[in-house]
Amino acid sequence: MNQAVALHPWERPHHLNSEENVLMIDGVNVNHLIKRYGSPLFVYSENKLRENALDILSSFRQVHEKTRVCFASKACANLSVLKVFKEAGLSIEVNSGGEFFKASAAGYLPEDMVFNGVAKQHNELREVINAGIKAINVDSLSELQRILNIALSLNKQANIALRIIPEIKGGATAGWETGTSASKFGMSRDEQLHAIQLINRHPDSLKVRGIHAHIGTQVNEVSAFQAEADFLIAYANEIRSLLPYPLEHINLGGGYPKNYTSHQDNLNTVSEHYKQNYRTQIDFSVLSEILIKPITDALGCEIEIIVEPGRSMVSDTAIMLTRIEAEKTRNQHPVYYLDAGYSVLFDIYNGWYFHMVNASRTDDTDTKLCRMVGPLCDSSDTYYDIEGEGSVKSLLQAEPNLEAHQEILKKVLVRQPNMRELPADTQVGDVIALLDTGAYALEMMNEYCGRQSAAAVMLDGNQESRLIRRRAKYEDLLTYDIS
Ligand SMILES: *Cc1c(COP(=O)(O)O)cnc(C)c1O
Repeated sequence: MNQAVALHPWERPHHLNSEENVLMIDGVNVNHLIKRYGSPLFVYSENKLRENALDILSSFRQVHEKTRVCFASKACANLSVLKVFKEAGLSIEVNSGGEFFKASAAGYLPEDMVFNGVAKQHNELREVINAGIKAINVDSLSELQRILNIALSLNKQANIALRIIPEIKGGATAGWETGTSASKFGMSRDEQLHAIQLINRHPDSLKVRGIHAHIGTQVNEVSAFQAEADFLIAYANEIRSLLPYPLEHINLGGGYPKNYTSHQDNLNTVSEHYKQNYRTQIDFSVLSEILIKPITDALGCEIEIIVEPGRSMVSDTAIMLTRIEAEKTRNQHPVYYLDAGYSVLFDIYNGWYFHMVNASRTDDTDTKLCRMVGPLCDSSDTYYDIEGEGSVKSLLQAEPNLEAHQEILKKVLVRQPNMRELPADTQVGDVIALLDTGAYALEMMNEYCGRQSAAAVMLDGNQESRLIRRRAKYEDLLTYDIS
């Protein structure tokens, strides 16, 4: 059965609209952008970045004044984006020495950074301990020992927070979950007790500043965040009784879900699970009530609350523009070949859904169903889940009795709708806009198949654009090679 999210409506007030059948982003005509900067192109909105920062800061601080929002920079570590967020009052979360370096280049101070990761390297730890970073979120006992050794050798006290496994399921698929012991993250309760013994034996080298948990990404159930708050309150009380000094902060991680279509009704045309995965949004005002407020009520207003949102801060702040280069017909449906595939938007490889609008025919209401693919010499380079569809087919061939369970198989195995609704006149040369491409995109670009990574621009809200990432050149392909 065909699964296609409805194309219309896609407009977003004050951000995305149509003028003379062409897509306008913050009042800027996308044809002008493509002409000036080329394709594919990421178009970031400074207005949207600032709005999101203001939204979370005001919502959470209204409930708990001592809230620090550490933007998870792996979601988008472009220097210009980081600078806009810094100006807007955000702190930052880094995941590697490289991200620490980038955050420093953007002007963030070590005391405004927290450092996560499951395999932190010796030199990275040395750098951040030397700099006096606000907190290293310790992921394992072996890492704690490494931190202790470095702190002793530097004669410094390392600021640490303990990452606990809350055993809460968050996120629709295994790859989105980080809060159970089935994932690779965090320490068990037993491990934490051992950690605290070690810490208490070395008060000059190790200081517990806080506790930390992060349950997943695109976590689409409010109840998971409620459970996380409950868990961390109980855990904070337990830890406090084991430490000879007060706990300064409680870090709730990120994972807040965002809409990946413009309207609730867009997803009425596809199976329910797609709606849950891609259409769930928990507003910051709701999160302030279910996640922040319980902690204030239980632990008081003196403790600092840290959150680490990534996706929810940037996903809706960028549009990716890509041009149709070729077309074919397969199984009575048109197949369009875009100039951007998973080397530009890696999440499509993970089966992620991004809403598509034909930016060259925004008002057309006569539509057809299409298959959309990328330019790479790899069969998996598609805007539908070719692997999932293939798995269902193979299973049904191997075991015909499974026919009765076809819908369940599809629900579990196929991550994206198989078709796209686009204007009937769609043709080679049209520009396709993919919405909500601000998160986990620039960071995951690569130059597979000798393709150049895309450029990015920032719209300043006054109809001006500026380049914030240059397009790669052929010569860049030689950068790392030595002959
Ligand atoms: C990736 C990550 C985040 C951000 O997750 P989002 O789903 O993008 O909000 C926050 N904290 C930690 C520890 C992470 O690894």
